[in-house]
Amino acid sequence: MMNAADLTKFDREHVWHPYSGTVNPRYCIEAVSAEGVEITLADGRKLIDGISSWWTMAHGHRHPKIVEAMKRQLEVMPHVMFGGFTHAPAVELTEKLLKLAPEKMHWVFYSDSGSVAVEVAMKMALQYFYAQGKREKCKFLSVEHTYHGDTFGTMALGGGAGSMHEYFSYLLTPHFTAKAPSLGFDNFQPGDIEDMRRIMEQHSGEIAAVILEPVLQGAGGMRIYSPEYLRQLKKLCEEFGILLILDEIATGFGRTGEMFAADYAGISPDIMCVGKGLTGGHITLAATLAADEIGRVISGGDPGALMHGPTFMANPVACAAANASMELFGEYDWRSNVKAIEKQLRCELEPLRKEAGVADVRVLGAVGAVELKNAVNADEYTRKFVELGCWVRPFGKVVYLMPPFVITESQLGKLTWAVNKVIRGN
Ligand SMILES: *Cc1c(COP(=O)(O)O)cnc(C)c1O
Repeated sequence: MMNAADLTKFDREHVWHPYSGTVNPRYCIEAVSAEGVEITLADGRKLIDGISSWWTMAHGHRHPKIVEAMKRQLEVMPHVMFGGFTHAPAVELTEKLLKLAPEKMHWVFYSDSGSVAVEVAMKMALQYFYAQGKREKCKFLSVEHTYHGDTFGTMALGGGAGSMHEYFSYLLTPHFTAKAPSLGFDNFQPGDIEDMRRIMEQHSGEIAAVILEPVLQGAGGMRIYSPEYLRQLKKLCEEFGILLILDEIATGFGRTGEMFAADYAGISPDIMCVGKGLTGGHITLAATLAADEIGRVISGGDPGALMHGPTFMANPVACAAANASMELFGEYDWRSNVKAIEKQLRCELEPLRKEAGVADVRVLGAVGAVELKNAVNADEYTRKFVELGCWVRPFGKVVYLMPPFVITESQLGKLTWAVNKVIRGN
């Protein structure tokens, strides 16, 4: 086994990290274990995970119930192909997911990452119209600041100038982009939805589906908008014969305070994507849910099947983890936890609004974001947070917290103290 210094050296010389270079790689430290809201480093220091390991770890790291379920499955059948086989972990998960999901959801397609779940949602929408002979309905409509993944299909949904995908824009399929909804959970602006209507009026014959992240746009800048926008959008989609795809990969499973962000609007999409928190963050798994009609129409026309099938589709260990995570939602009062987190985030981050460098403070559920006026040096900030015993990793202009739902008041207090201290520069 390598010592910590050799390990990070070898890593720097051979391992690629997310959105990082090789010559001058991003800040990176060795983690050796994790439990609850804490990550332990190779040198023994413990950090409070302020961002739930990229928004995944809903019930905390290494949750005993999830780990136990994974171990049990691992000893029986770590994997079996899903082509030609089914298994209890997948079927039970499907039953649980459909019980929690908006009412119209009826079919579930499993995949191994959020990006792929969105690719599958896109294929569903395209095949839904293809099966009806409407091959010209092959474009998507999204909004500014949207994010749906890093694969080519998903990058095309939000790959315009200024986005993180702009380096590939010359290769991306052109789609339609509407004005982003105005910021503010209680701030519905009729003009925002008018831009959607304008595009639909001109192009509904070409558009298969609208896709967006409900209520909270995550990677595009932690932008919170009104559920009323979604209600109006749903009506427009029905009026113009366009499907609605909600990407709940970041917002799903309680993060915004409701089980799904769509629940704030009381709407049911035609297709919906989940990922990130699906397994309580313990192992990779994603799913694309669809209304009964979507499944029936796709299968009733040419080619009679949904044309996708990942090698590790519905991996049993991942499904077992997700089953345990779904059960946990019934075993503790996560809603009260998220409410308490929201209240504390509001109270302890809101004062930053008065700082000269701060543009906005936004809080919803277990998400608190401070938008600065200028982009920050993310690595420099991360290093400062680590020195304060916290794991917070800003992007762009946004310093944010997205803690696990089991965080205590004092642990969250330490995170907000660190955010205040780092932003105030003292
Ligand atoms: C993270 C994310 C994705 C992509 O998921 P991966 O598992 O990273 O492929 C897609 N959509 C949204 C809203 C996300 O937050």
